[in-house]
Amino acid sequence: MHSEPDTKAQFPTAFDAILEKITTIDPIAYGPSRNYVDGAVSYLSPYISRGVISTKFVYHQLMERGFHPGPIMKFTQELAWRDYWQQFWIAKGDAINQDLKHKQAPVISMEISSALAAGNIGITAIDLAIQQLYTTGYIHNHLRMYLASIACNIAHNHWKTPAQWMYYHLLDADWASNALSWQWVAGANSNKKYYANQENINNFCYSNQTNTFLDVSYDAFENLQIPEVLIDTQILSLTTSLPEQKEIVINAALPTCIYNFYNLDPIWKKEESINRILLLEPSHFKQYPVSKKTIDFILDLSKNIPNIQIFVGEFDELISSYKLNTIYYKEHPLNNHYKGIEEPRDWMFDVKGYYPSFFAFWKKCKKEIIF
Ligand SMILES: Cc1cc2nc3c(=O)[nH]c(=O)nc-3n(C[C@H](O)[C@H](O)[C@H](O)COP(=O)(O)OP(=O)(O)OC[C@H]3O[C@@H](n4cnc5c(N)ncnc54)[C@H](O)[C@@H]3O)c2cc1C
Repeated sequence: MHSEPDTKAQFPTAFDAILEKITTIDPIAYGPSRNYVDGAVSYLSPYISRGVISTKFVYHQLMERGFHPGPIMKFTQELAWRDYWQQFWIAKGDAINQDLKHKQAPVISMEISSALAAGNIGITAIDLAIQQLYTTGYIHNHLRMYLASIACNIAHNHWKTPAQWMYYHLLDADWASNALSWQWVAGANSNKKYYANQENINNFCYSNQTNTFLDVSYDAFENLQIPEVLIDTQILSLTTSLPEQKEIVINAALPTCIYNFYNLDPIWKKEESINRILLLEPSHFKQYPVSKKTIDFILDLSKNIPNIQIFVGEFDELISSYKLNTIYYKEHPLNNHYKGIEEPRDWMFDVKGYYPSFFAFWKKCKKEIIF
């Protein structure tokens, strides 16, 4: 088992270290290698999801490093997936919490297979990825797809409980990327379920396992019996432990910036004298629970924001307890109940609104790329 320092080494929280991480991305090697477990992926999602940096910021950094758009297109396209799902969430709101295009079928359980939650399904690459999720708070994209496919399309768990389980443990927990990707794999937000067999897993994870329940040809998937190991299911009790509520000190003569789970941007209004509050709303974490590791991660990230104070409570409680002058916050679908001045988030391209497919969205984005 890995220990706590692993997360800190892999995902440092000091802003300088995060900026340094961006300088080491290899967006050219990314294209051909990204699907392999040791591929040249960026590991930036925990920072993008937490609003420390934006997709636009990352893209501009690459332009400044002198990369031409053509050779780094695959990487840019993946960044665009993030913005696509975010726009989708803005447009559809809470509707993303239910099956979107098609009802997932068949579903035999609204719970999660116990062996998946235990990381003990007998497919070594997957079991290892689950252990890594628990120890580091990160999983490679291809392994997320394998896992979702096993949960939804082999064990016939409805996507939502396993999605909440994965979200709970991810440092990059982002409900749009999460719920919509799970639905995409399960065929609830796509026209086809995603399957991968053992040969595919062996290839991308460098394993050589045979005789597993996935060691079948692709035609066998539609009628595959649920493997014995995945039959037992369980409900998970996912709760968030928030820091204790403490008094904060407000300078009533100054405006206030509200930070939250999705906005920990250290350069937002950096030069201004402002009250800065990290708002942790119990109602948010009741609906979208996260692990202690994720809470510790955001508390550490918040240290990049000078003089930030933590308020554990609801937005309305904050404004009724303290005399807040002008309030600023960044747009996000979960902030609709905030009152004050809403500022836009950064987006990579000026393409907004709902697109039924990523490729329709991407086609428009591509037009803005200057070659
Ligand atoms: C079932 C499932 C659940 C997922 N849950 C989440 C989640 O909760 N939070 C989350 O941030 N991502 C989620 N993803 C998307 C993707 O797996 C991660 O963003 C990616 O693996 C992060 O690693 P990276 O930063 O090294 O990505 P890279 O491959 O280096 O990609 C660069 C950046 O592009 C964006 N990106 C890449 N792939 C995707 C994608 N498929 N969808 C959206 N954005 C993408 C991310 O911002 C990422 O940081 C999920 C994918 C699947 C299949």
